[in-house]
Amino acid sequence: MTHPAQPKASHFINGAYVEDTAGTPIPVIYAATGEQIATVHAATPAIVEQALSTAKAAQKAWAKMTGTERGRILRRAADIMRERNHELSVLETYDTGKPLQETLVADATSGADALEYFGGLAGSLTGEHIPLGEDWVYTKREALGLCVGIGAWNYPTQIACWKGAPALACGNSMVFKPSETTPLCALKVAEILHEAGAPAGIYNVIQGMGEVGGALVTDPRVDKVSLTGSVPTGKKVYAAAAEGMKHVTMELGGKSPLIIFDDADVDNAVGGAINGNFYSSGQVCSNGTRVFVQKGIKEKFLARLAERTGNAILGDPMDEATSFGPMVTENQMNIVLGYIEKGKEEGARLICGGKRADMDGYFIEPTVFADVTDDMTIAREEIFGPVMSVLDFDTEEEVVARANDTEFGLSAGVFTKDFTRAHRVIGNLEAGSCFINSYNDAPVEAPFGGVKASGVGRENSKEAIKHFSQVKSIYVRMGDVEAAF
Ligand code: NAD
Repeated sequence: MTHPAQPKASHFINGAYVEDTAGTPIPVIYAATGEQIATVHAATPAIVEQALSTAKAAQKAWAKMTGTERGRILRRAADIMRERNHELSVLETYDTGKPLQETLVADATSGADALEYFGGLAGSLTGEHIPLGEDWVYTKREALGLCVGIGAWNYPTQIACWKGAPALACGNSMVFKPSETTPLCALKVAEILHEAGAPAGIYNVIQGMGEVGGALVTDPRVDKVSLTGSVPTGKKVYAAAAEGMKHVTMELGGKSPLIIFDDADVDNAVGGAINGNFYSSGQVCSNGTRVFVQKGIKEKFLARLAERTGNAILGDPMDEATSFGPMVTENQMNIVLGYIEKGKEEGARLICGGKRADMDGYFIEPTVFADVTDDMTIAREEIFGPVMSVLDFDTEEEVVARANDTEFGLSAGVFTKDFTRAHRVIGNLEAGSCFINSYNDAPVEAPFGGVKASGVGRENSKEAIKHFSQVKSIYVRMGDVEAAF
């Protein structure tokens, strides 16, 4: 019998499901059991061509609709997503292994927020009037054209919406390629957008590995590429996009600092560290995985952290009581276990966790290392799993310098009751998305993105509009034209 997660077909192009079984089969494995629940096929060159030519052909008419009309469709799609939240959350759990407790509140709901927010903005995208005596200049905010979205595997519904909603609001069309690890959810986003009234060809989804992503990025018809992925992939995609002088948004990896001062409320700081390390089993790009704790509060913090981490409920992700799920794949589990071994070898002190959980599926116990030093591998490299490194510090000046000593710059957080210090420290940290007495909140109203190797451009908020549109400037002369001859 076909598993309920099996999609109708691998791709969604021109308003309909499309299959081409000549493409390499991609198995979809449910991380909680290791069972294969679905198969999709990577896009063949014919499918890539169909998606790009369709999206190119559909874009101009979409851009000519009023923003209010486009926005109405996005907002209708948001309503459908909310109505189907339970069903979409179950699918997200099958796709990623994340517990239903999380997916019910963080995935389709976040996607719906993006569709609603950008749907609301679409009608208010305007240019400027710039008076120049009797003459004037006016500007128009225009669509870029055909946009490509490429997703990572940790938030397949959210990423498909965070890229699609602002792109479509601005009058662009999109071809979206989800991660080959989690290919199911983006198809539902496409289906819902079309059910809500998006014209055929405006939002297309095709499957495949890096090779298919590469074919999209290098196509001369593509005007913009928005990638969510790792830094090494980001460098390749950015370089390929530069060759064609395309616009880019790069949402890449991180090794973000979370700084906890002596005066912080211990339970809030522990809560921030848990949210910033163990949500989605640590598979979150903005995680604060280098937790710098001032020496005076260290032992109290570690004791409370170990106690609360012990309350994590590992188990069937479909059981809403489960609060901690498996790694997305066996391979990712092995990578993370390798980092845990490195932490032990390099002399970090294991506080809790530290091994694969004794159960089916790719579960790793939430793991905390203390006495981590800046040069240890677990403090330098992005692990993308439930491994928290706790480092000690003495002074503000010292911790800011150490926090910034990394190639990454996605996020940063500070816990303190001293408000001037909080703002000063955040002001001195090299990061794009920051938190004071909190961690990992990502409302659609706030810009999201990194500095340094963590990326370029911003998603969400009004900033995303700038990254999915461009300004045309038009000079209007009222008098005669003066010329030298
Ligand atoms: P990845 O870099 O391996 O893959 C990301 C996507 O790029 C996939 O869809 C993949 O098929 C595609 N791809 C790979 N090579 C390509 C190429 N040469 N050309 C075009 N496309 C190519 O990342 P992942 O393992 O899926 O995800 C984990 C990474 O994503 C982590 O580093 C994490 O920090 C990052 N991430 C960042 C954000 C953010 O918003 N900043 C959010 C989630 C994840």
